Amino acid sequence: MKLLATVLLMGFPWFLWGQPDHADFGTTQISKMEAERWSPNLKKSFGSYNGDNYQWNYAECYWEVNPLDRYITGRVVHHIAIDNDAGDTISFDFNEALSVNSASIDGEPVPYFFFDAFSLGLDIGDVNISENSVVEITYEGEPNNSNLMSFNQAVRTINGENLFEIYTLSQPYGARDWWPCKQTLRDKLDSIFIEITVPEGFRAGSNGKLEYEDENPEGTIGFGWKHRYPIPAYLISMAVAEYDSFSQFVEVGGSEIEILNYIYPERLALEQKRAQDIPEMMVLFSELFGIYPYADEKYGHAQTAIPGGMEHTTMSTMSNLNFNLSAHELAHQWFGNKITCGSWEDIWLNEGFATYINGLAIEFLRDEDAFRTFKEGLRGNILAQPDGSVFVNDTTSRSRIFNGRLSYNKGAYLLHMLRWELGDDVFFEACRNFINDPELEFDYVYTNDFISHLESASGRDLNYFFDDWYYGEGHPQYKVEWNRTSNGVGLEIEQTPSHQSVDFFEMHLPVKLIGSGNEVTVVLNHQFSGQRFLLTPGFQVEQIQFDPDLWILSENTVVFNPSTNFGSDEILVLPNPVSGVVKFTLLNPAQFAQYAEILNTQGKVVMTYNPAGPIRDSFEMDVSRLAVGTYIIRLINEDSSTSTRFVVARN
Ligand SMILES: [Zn+2]
Repeated sequence: MKLLATVLLMGFPWFLWGQPDHADFGTTQISKMEAERWSPNLKKSFGSYNGDNYQWNYAECYWEVNPLDRYITGRVVHHIAIDNDAGDTISFDFNEALSVNSASIDGEPVPYFFFDAFSLGLDIGDVNISENSVVEITYEGEPNNSNLMSFNQAVRTINGENLFEIYTLSQPYGARDWWPCKQTLRDKLDSIFIEITVPEGFRAGSNGKLEYEDENPEGTIGFGWKHRYPIPAYLISMAVAEYDSFSQFVEVGGSEIEILNYIYPERLALEQKRAQDIPEMMVLFSELFGIYPYADEKYGHAQTAIPGGMEHTTMSTMSNLNFNLSAHELAHQWFGNKITCGSWEDIWLNEGFATYINGLAIEFLRDEDAFRTFKEGLRGNILAQPDGSVFVNDTTSRSRIFNGRLSYNKGAYLLHMLRWELGDDVFFEACRNFINDPELEFDYVYTNDFISHLESASGRDLNYFFDDWYYGEGHPQYKVEWNRTSNGVGLEIEQTPSHQSVDFFEMHLPVKLIGSGNEVTVVLNHQFSGQRFLLTPGFQVEQIQFDPDLWILSENTVVFNPSTNFGSDEILVLPNPVSGVVKFTLLNPAQFAQYAEILNTQGKVVMTYNPAGPIRDSFEMDVSRLAVGTYIIRLINEDSSTSTRFVVARN
């Protein structure tokens, strides 16, 4: 109850605690929960990490906890490579609320001291440093409560009995609150071994493969977990409760992956039912982004009182196993864990991807309506405000880093629009190349790494796109005015950006033309506000739908305006009939084309005009070699074209 009261005072939304057990979270709720749980930790800011003078290679952690006490006893053995010019001190991120009992290097005790509230220094003056220095620190104490979420004791009451648990949540800076480590996003451990000793009856979930469950003579059990992949401090966790468990097994790419679930006993049946889609998600994500990165260890979940979930590598900590949350945390095993944002500035590479992949799970495993609801949920949240960039412009603010609207939802929509602009094949290929790049995999990555892969897969320069949608703020507001012409429809599309940081969002815009019994979707290359498009779908258009499948993040107004004259003859041909050089003039000043072709009445192209730049105003062609007869001049601009007839005669 104490925890509950404190949490409510910290301003968490009621639904986190009101009924977390049975909630099916919506996507925007997940981002909201992740965003808001960091707000209590307002202490130390960026740039003050420890450990720049050594490489953090391997750690063995021996932790002992009893969920009835909010207390930890620890022995951590770091294997590090100390730089030759390291100086007199090496330091670890560690909270002075815990007492250090001993520190040694290669078995020799060394002096240690806290040089600020979060930094433990070890004196290395007399030590022979080597490629593999073994640093051992023993400590104990009650982890500081100022960072509410890093080391948590929680209790739930079942049939009048109080059931206690302990779980950790270290993202972004909480690991130091319960163990001495290196929190910087510049170094990952190559691998880790974790032993968690708990009283009989409790189980301890953690990273990697469970090597043993050893009963000790004093009635405790040690759970030995081994993780053989690079991992940053914030993804290392423990979750201790009186768990029941169940496993699911999935065949992916020839290997069988275990999904091991540590679940509250009273919730076993419910969570088993909820978890039924997770194996299919594992298959889907492996197909889209390459096989699950930790297939030879496991995936799994440990249930705790955490608000939402956290993607601890190979064992996510979960409030429950509902569809959206399970998809989100599983997606992080690829985007966040296998590759990790190299700065909190790039957090969207973790959270935008996880949010979008949650959407892909809905699209591929559920149905179109559910995917539409997902997209509408994101739009409702993002478009409610006119500003804000996916790029984090203030990394000293945790609430800005984990801003649900921008880092999660707008980041996800940015990916959706890239998929639209590049097409499914190129988009997914670029994502796969990015995450499986031997230079990047299991390492830290930056937005520019992703852009390089998008550009090489597509052969396109995407700076304009990222300038508008990543660094720029806001979104386009479109006003589409349309009217019928003699042979089709005309559209005039105005765009007003919602924020002055972007002049114009260059986008391909899908428009569906609907007539009785007919419909066609055309894609318009929108290059300036007020651009006009003349379309001849070959049927009488009754209605148009602008961006019917919600590809573009925008606010849209569509107006049928019968008084707008888009003109019927869009191309003036002079002279007509012609025997030599003919001049074609575009009558609509807003119109332009990429190239032109002359077709005979059988529809065969007999001449083309393909200048380096776009065709505007007018151009000339010599048609003296064409046989006498009727021809069609067609001006083509991406998916729209306009044409008119003319006659070739002989003098
Ligand atoms: Zn997340």
